[in-house]
Amino acid sequence: MARINPEFTKELKKYGAFNANACYNCGNCTAVCTLSDEDNSFPRKMIRCSVLGLEDEIQMSLDPWLCYYCGECSTTCPREADPGELMMSLRRWLTSKYDWTGLSGMLYKSLTVTVFAFLVLAIAVIFFGAYEKFNLEKITHLGHYFEILAISVVFLLVLLPNIAHMWWMTIGKHKTKVPLSAYFKSMGELLVHMFTQKRTLGCDDNQTRWFEHFILVLGYLTLLLTTVFLDWFGTQIIFVIVLGYVESAVIFIVTFDFVRRRIQREAEISKHSHTSDWFFVIWLFLMGLTAFFVRLSIDLDILENNIWIYLFHLIILVQWALIIVPFGKWTHFLYRSFAIYFEKLIQVKR
Ligand code: SF4
Ligand code: SF4
Repeated sequence: MARINPEFTKELKKYGAFNANACYNCGNCTAVCTLSDEDNSFPRKMIRCSVLGLEDEIQMSLDPWLCYYCGECSTTCPREADPGELMMSLRRWLTSKYDWTGLSGMLYKSLTVTVFAFLVLAIAVIFFGAYEKFNLEKITHLGHYFEILAISVVFLLVLLPNIAHMWWMTIGKHKTKVPLSAYFKSMGELLVHMFTQKRTLGCDDNQTRWFEHFILVLGYLTLLLTTVFLDWFGTQIIFVIVLGYVESAVIFIVTFDFVRRRIQREAEISKHSHTSDWFFVIWLFLMGLTAFFVRLSIDLDILENNIWIYLFHLIILVQWALIIVPFGKWTHFLYRSFAIYFEKLIQVKR
């Protein structure tokens, strides 16, 4: 029997800004959404499930991840119920359900907890610097190893189990029989979506947004490779140095534009910014900017006397790697790609 949570819309408010009481089920949002078809009424099905508190139904659904937040439904809604933001709030809520540690939910729901976690990590980095007597060589060397360790630990201990949990909720639990070969055949689809997020192109006015996201993902992933595997801060190879400058500049220029749009609330999708959205764009901006300045300080030979430049970068990096990547908005990029993959597997089964 389906579990009903009468307090669900109240709970969901902590994850976003949907006004469930305003919705009178007119269907305008479904009419305008390009994802709607005769089998699935986007986003109305999720609206009804939310209003009725059908948590299990929502947990087993991939719909919130298939929505690419064009904002059309919110613009068309005559009651300003903001169904686009409902889908966004459901994605945040689902993230907290997939996460076995429970930290995602705590961070999404409480700004105090988030600020506290950021402060604890900042203090830990400063203590680490003091413990190493602010020896630049040692700190940068260990900082480099931290990146490798953080990527492995976060992936193996948090992201991988959470993706398995998502698979369980959306496929495994319902005994959906998917042939093993389909998992391999659809793998290409997963990788393409992960690196291009091409589904967002489905919306008419999304081309620029898609291009910016694509450039950002490319800049972010290649900077990660450049710093971790090509040792950007330690190398003397000109090509790698210039490559790192370009990648970090791409990150802070594009994210600066994201922050500007959120402040100016230009588009429908920028009108409601949850604190997790702000942390994501600002920290990504700071990651690019501080990495750029660290390398610049190395090239100008001034880092030795200005170690705080590296320490500040390290604080941002640690907070990013241990909070935003495993528990914050970064995970949406991963879950969305897997949702498209799982959707494909379910279709194969049909
Ligand atoms: S969310 Fe708005 S557009 Fe959609 S059914 Fe409700 S009132 Fe109509
Ligand atoms: S935001 Fe766009 S894709 Fe998502 S439900 Fe609304 S109209 Fe559909």
